[in-house]
Amino acid sequence: MTALKDRLIARIARTGPISVADYMSTCLLDPEHGYYATRDPLGAGGDFTTAPEISQMFGECLGLALAQCWIDRGRPDPFHLVELGPGRGVLMADMLRATARIPGFHEAMRLYLIEASGPLRAIQQRRLQGYGATWLRALSGLPDDAPLFLIANEFLDALPIRQFVRAGGGWRERQIGVSDGALAFGLGGPVLPEALACRLTDTDEGQVVELCLPALALVGDIARRIARAGGVAVLIDYGGGRSLGDTLQAVRRHAPAPVLACPGEADLTAHVDFGAIARAARAVPGVRVTVMTPQGRLLERLGITARAERLAQGLQGAALQSHIAAHRRLTHPDEMGTLFKAIALCREDAAPVPPGFDI
Ligand code: SAH
Repeated sequence: MTALKDRLIARIARTGPISVADYMSTCLLDPEHGYYATRDPLGAGGDFTTAPEISQMFGECLGLALAQCWIDRGRPDPFHLVELGPGRGVLMADMLRATARIPGFHEAMRLYLIEASGPLRAIQQRRLQGYGATWLRALSGLPDDAPLFLIANEFLDALPIRQFVRAGGGWRERQIGVSDGALAFGLGGPVLPEALACRLTDTDEGQVVELCLPALALVGDIARRIARAGGVAVLIDYGGGRSLGDTLQAVRRHAPAPVLACPGEADLTAHVDFGAIARAARAVPGVRVTVMTPQGRLLERLGITARAERLAQGLQGAALQSHIAAHRRLTHPDEMGTLFKAIALCREDAAPVPPGFDI
């Protein structure tokens, strides 16, 4: 039994069942025992792998796309280049390398990395030396004095969700309590959260809907910043157009694990509800939100196949095979190509829509 599990059981015994969101945020970010607070979880030796860790092409395509957005918006100087949850800094390193020869881009850039994890921040600091970057724990600390060019990959899926089960004309919240000395799921009393009012029309008795309030607040903040100062945000994650069903999952050493089995020792994520994200952004006057685009289609439109062919020229044998596999993994519908989606936010003005996206 982990120390965090003991603490959660003692806390529930003291104050009663907790929400799934409470459980998620404690497991991921508890300063002493939290998953992200205590380790580098990424890569072959860790628990999971992400798109930038699979191939440099991911960051190259996205870096050039963001730089094109900057050019299309009149090359503002200065501007904020921001990444939410940069992991090991690989995506940003690839973006910066790809954009190094775009005249004026690095000179105008003020780089900000938003990171809650101490161990990951240390890795990012090593990898991103020399760019004068600033690290913040939350986007709320970012100065609001320049256009915002923001990227987030597999960040929103780590934000704590609440889960509600449809019951009659309302909902009951899924909670975590203790049964026979072990953590166990249960249900709270009837509630009618305002944010779920629109889901009473498209759900049936017993169905689960997830609500990620921190993600909606964050997207509202991003949208307001873009409405005020201009810029573009590109958000990539796994998920779909609307939340339906229990998608909370734990992953440990590249394999699924029971969600309640090892608090603080496994990654916990949930599908991102891009419909709710888009509504939160559209609620901000002056902000334009693109259509949700599958990752495979976005990367194809940004030229990943031409880049893959170019890189393949210098490779042979096992390195060539793994390069081809990486391209397939990022783009193919059976791999990450369809499950992962992207959405972009920009200002309602004359500038073209971010490359690769449709309105
Ligand atoms: N974007 C990276 C890493 C994804 S893992 C990649 O694609 O490889 C999620 C990242 O978000 C990690 O860096 C984690 O430490 C960070 N993170 C998770 N929750 C956070 C929070 N609430 N605030 C800030 N960073 C957070």
